[in-house]
Amino acid sequence: MNYDEDCIFCKIGRKEIASAKVYEDSEVLAFLDVNPVTKGHTLVITKEHFSNFNEVPKNLINKVFQVAQTVSQAAIMELHATGVNILTNVNPSAGQSVMHFHVHVIPRYDNTDGFKLDFTPKAIGTRDMTNIATMIKKGL
Ligand code: AMP
Ligand code: ZN
Repeated sequence: MNYDEDCIFCKIGRKEIASAKVYEDSEVLAFLDVNPVTKGHTLVITKEHFSNFNEVPKNLINKVFQVAQTVSQAAIMELHATGVNILTNVNPSAGQSVMHFHVHVIPRYDNTDGFKLDFTPKAIGTRDMTNIATMIKKGL
């Protein structure tokens, strides 16, 4: 099992550092983010160390997202969130600061709840769209 002795989430997974645990099984752990962006902001991690989403075996991705879905449902049922953002950052350019795979489950309440995702569209021509789709398909 991959383990990085300098990794804070590996330490949380091994209970060497305390966390506000929400869910745990042999492979997955969910706990509250210590700097929540909204009430109930939860992180779902693999106990095993993988540096980011792209590095995780697919069977474990399934398990993490199953837990993320359950936490998301609980946020709506029990915290009375009206929506939820589920997201994972891959690498520092995308905002990843802890290099151990984690999924953010961010309950949403209204547009003053403190979290904002900016999906401002960029103008891209039809030919570029075709080229970009071709390039991505090559990598699949
Ligand atoms: P990211 O920027 O996607 O890598 O997210 C890392 C998240 O981990 C941030 O939202 C931090 O607030 C959170 N975090 C860092 N250290 C801890 C910790 N000891 N316990 C809980 N959450 C943490
Ligand atoms: Zn780790």
